Amino acid sequence: MVLAYIGLGSNLENPLDQVERAFQELGSLADTSLLARSALYQSRAIGPEQPDYINAVAQLETSLAPLDLLDALQSIEQAHRRVRLQHWGPRTLDLDLLLYGNDTIQHPRLNVPHPYLTQRSFVLYPLADIDPNLQLPSSQSLQTLLSQCPFDGLVRLPDTR
Ligand code: AMP
Repeated sequence: MVLAYIGLGSNLENPLDQVERAFQELGSLADTSLLARSALYQSRAIGPEQPDYINAVAQLETSLAPLDLLDALQSIEQAHRRVRLQHWGPRTLDLDLLLYGNDTIQHPRLNVPHPYLTQRSFVLYPLADIDPNLQLPSSQSLQTLLSQCPFDGLVRLPDTR
């Protein structure tokens, strides 16, 4: 079994509901359990003018191989009838494989750690909710990355569950 971290993002069609459903769907994947979830965050969109995003991170324990996990993430995205009209544009659900154990993967379909992981506040702060002592495969610590990444326009939402 491997620990994997998934970044969730949505800014269309009731994003809070999209992310909530995605957590449940991640927990229902074959050979996978949902171990932990971060708080929900609201972040300003990068790119063209569009609604704010809801972001979160899930920690999974899985025996799926990396590309099988990516296939599963893409099936969930499709099930949310993902709409994406333009690069960086709004989407109903975006699922990114942020980390897969201690693996570094360079494949035409899959780069792990996710290339944006080290710079994005909406990924780094939710990761720290789950494991503040996380180390990346490069041996960089999450704490070092956080110290270089301002909270910015990120808003941590209260837990209303
Ligand atoms: P995006 O929708 O912008 O997140 O990009 C999706 C594309 O990125 C898909 O074609 C994936 O094959 C590719 N991709 C590469 N690395 C990753 C990753 N770590 N997680 C999710 N998608 C990835």
